[in-house]
Amino acid sequence: MSGREPLDLTEITPGAAIDRGRHGWRAKCLQRLIRMDLPVPQSWAISSESVRAIASGQIPPTPALAGLFARTAGLVGVRPSAMHPEWGGPGTVLHVGMNDACHAHLTKRLGKDAADALYLSFIQTYAVQIARLDPDMFAQGGPGALDDAMRAWRAEMDEDFPQDPARQLAEVLRAMARAWDGPTARLLRQAKGAPADAPLGLVVQEMALALGPGVTGSGTIQFIDSVTGTPRITGRFRGQELGAARGAGAETLYLTRDDRGPSLEETAPQVFAELVRFGIAARERLREEMQIEFIVTDGILSIIDATRVERSSRASVRIAVALARDGIIPPDEAVMRVHPRALSDLLHYQVDPRAPRDTITRGINASPGAATGRIVFTAAAAQASAARGEACVLVRRETVPEDIRGMHASVAVLTERGGTSSHAAVIARGLGLPCIVGATGLSIDTRARTLHAGGRTLREGDEITIDGTSGEVLAGAAEMLEPALDDSFNQLLDWADAARRIGVRANADTPEDARTARMFKAQGIGLCRTEHMFFDESRLPAMREMIFADRPEDRRLALERILPMQRDDFVELFTIMAGLPVTIRLFDPPLHEFLPHDREGMRELAESLALPLSEVTRRVEALSEFNPMLGMRGVRLGITLPEIYEMQARAIFEATVIASRKDAPVVPEIMIPLVSAMREVELVKTRVDAVAASVRNQMRADFTYRLGVMVETPRAALRAGDIAAHSAFLSFGTNDLTQMTYGLSRDDAGRFMSTYVNQGVYVEDPFHILDADGVGELLLMGCERARKSRPGITLSVCGEHGGNPQSIAFCHQAGVDYVSCSPFRVPVARLAAAQESIRSRDESAFDDSPAVLR
Ligand code: PEP
Ligand code: MG
Repeated sequence: MSGREPLDLTEITPGAAIDRGRHGWRAKCLQRLIRMDLPVPQSWAISSESVRAIASGQIPPTPALAGLFARTAGLVGVRPSAMHPEWGGPGTVLHVGMNDACHAHLTKRLGKDAADALYLSFIQTYAVQIARLDPDMFAQGGPGALDDAMRAWRAEMDEDFPQDPARQLAEVLRAMARAWDGPTARLLRQAKGAPADAPLGLVVQEMALALGPGVTGSGTIQFIDSVTGTPRITGRFRGQELGAARGAGAETLYLTRDDRGPSLEETAPQVFAELVRFGIAARERLREEMQIEFIVTDGILSIIDATRVERSSRASVRIAVALARDGIIPPDEAVMRVHPRALSDLLHYQVDPRAPRDTITRGINASPGAATGRIVFTAAAAQASAARGEACVLVRRETVPEDIRGMHASVAVLTERGGTSSHAAVIARGLGLPCIVGATGLSIDTRARTLHAGGRTLREGDEITIDGTSGEVLAGAAEMLEPALDDSFNQLLDWADAARRIGVRANADTPEDARTARMFKAQGIGLCRTEHMFFDESRLPAMREMIFADRPEDRRLALERILPMQRDDFVELFTIMAGLPVTIRLFDPPLHEFLPHDREGMRELAESLALPLSEVTRRVEALSEFNPMLGMRGVRLGITLPEIYEMQARAIFEATVIASRKDAPVVPEIMIPLVSAMREVELVKTRVDAVAASVRNQMRADFTYRLGVMVETPRAALRAGDIAAHSAFLSFGTNDLTQMTYGLSRDDAGRFMSTYVNQGVYVEDPFHILDADGVGELLLMGCERARKSRPGITLSVCGEHGGNPQSIAFCHQAGVDYVSCSPFRVPVARLAAAQESIRSRDESAFDDSPAVLR
């Protein structure tokens, strides 16, 4: 198709009908600058409808384009103007209209070198970006380069370089419109969240030339440090820019006065003062920290563009809070301006983005933050290293429960296998350790104590850095930024708390976790996984004795040794949480996890239990299951070996009495895992009630407690109605619920997850982001049925999804009362929950795009 229809071209004036949806963010931003009376050169916006028509073959009408040149003193530049600055766009083309006549004129005015340099630069851009000629043919500089470029053009195109400015501009518009339609541009913008058919506007602007006598040049200025977010003027100013590249007299000036060299502030104080004034005004009127692009021509300033300042996570928090504190944006908008993920960067050390990175390999970024340490390959080596006071990184094929102590002793964890909810990932997030899992490019030789990756071999003791934020493993020690739990961070979260509807609790198993949870202002513990308490070296023997006991009395005797320790655990948790709710989940994992896996371990166990090795081996084998995750675990253990839950209930109730005598009264919440039938709840409830009555009697104290159920089997979600009849609360364990809904092992899915996501089988890793369509439907159904049967029931989500912003938004919409997540994700959850509240309160008032776009 081709034809000539009128070009939808609007001059950007204060009153013009410029619309972000039709003309893009840049056009709208320029209009705001013009409305502020900033010296912006004449500019025009071409609507996205026109750009689309040009891309599909329509030829832009030459008279309209020629008219533009008639109204400017010479050359124009063309810039992309997508609907969102992050969606990018084709490269800017400057100096359109440059031809022999203009060259002759500039030679007279500025000298041959400057005019040649400008013309050559334009021909190079035009040849490569517009006519798509081979860049190598136009790469030369130096004397004679302009003639060479002209000759190369003629040889390739069989004509002289186009002299008609309107034709040049038409070609530029066509090339930019087509580039936006190309597959690469489409993929790039889709990666930034743009729809594939996102529209593009274009901006044509009269060129202010950075050439000539006096103070002349081009530069950028911003008023905030992009990495730290603290107020600081940074940028650059290149005097005589184009002539500079090839001629004499070029210099880069620093913007501000300091001792590094000459500065614009000293050389042209008025220009500098004007820039600062414009900067302050732009921040207030555009309600954003902007980077301003400017040209100075013989001491006269032109503002040619302004973009949102690029920023690190910590800078994004400081900028948003400062804007709200200065009364430029309301606090709720500051809450909307920070990406929840950015907060987790602030909680940990980060690899300094300005520093060099020596990347060896990469994997799944399972727990954020960065740490440097010496490589160790076993939990024992990690503990030895910690005892020597040496930071170490635990590198394992995958981790198992026995590795927990080693993980505690490490500064970071790296595994070859596993996905986002594998053991290593869950534990590391809980501990706040940087962690990379599923680093399949890695091969570990435990015998030789070496690891191979990226063609390199590293040995035990070698230093590496784990960047759990990006998923990159770096050789050596990288330069770090410190955590930034500063005043801005706290202020932002206080504003978030004021806005949010759903609660945020923490998954905390240890006193250390509980303290972290309090530090991050969690509103209680939503999941205490008690089994971690049994892996302690002092408890493991009694635990194993219990497992090997044949009769209930013997089991009870072994458990009696664990009871006081477990009671102390709970007293400590209750005390730290100071009256905030604490949900304790009864024992969940299959028993074989507590038994040794190798012959040496079994021999030691045989010795300590005074049993023949053959008997130990036989029992260990008898306990092993084909599908332990679907086997004797959770409530199934509670029903077949009731002594375990009875001991735990007793420990919880005794701790309740003790803690309530010291401090605020405690109302413990007891949660039953892996339920799939209402009768399971009835049976456990009867026993737990009996233990409560016995403790009340023995300790002569009264207390109440709440019994709830974890909904983590699909059947429990389907039967939530009758399960709710016996439960004060239901908590959705979305890790197991995802595993069982998909029939997908959470420990093995990492092997093919990326293939599945890349080929679009799954939109996302469902262990990472809650699958709204399937698992989410079960959750919605479960909530609805539970509420119908018991209107006042408390509903929550305590799987790993409770710390994921997208999943939290879903939980908010599902109407749950709270989410519970790893302590280090609590700030992220507080912010994400607040954003969803604000969004749902006023769908249209805020979005996460810069204020300049509204
Ligand atoms: C779950 O299954 O979602 C859950 C929270 O329990 P765990 O991760 O301990 O299996
Ligand atoms: Mg579970």
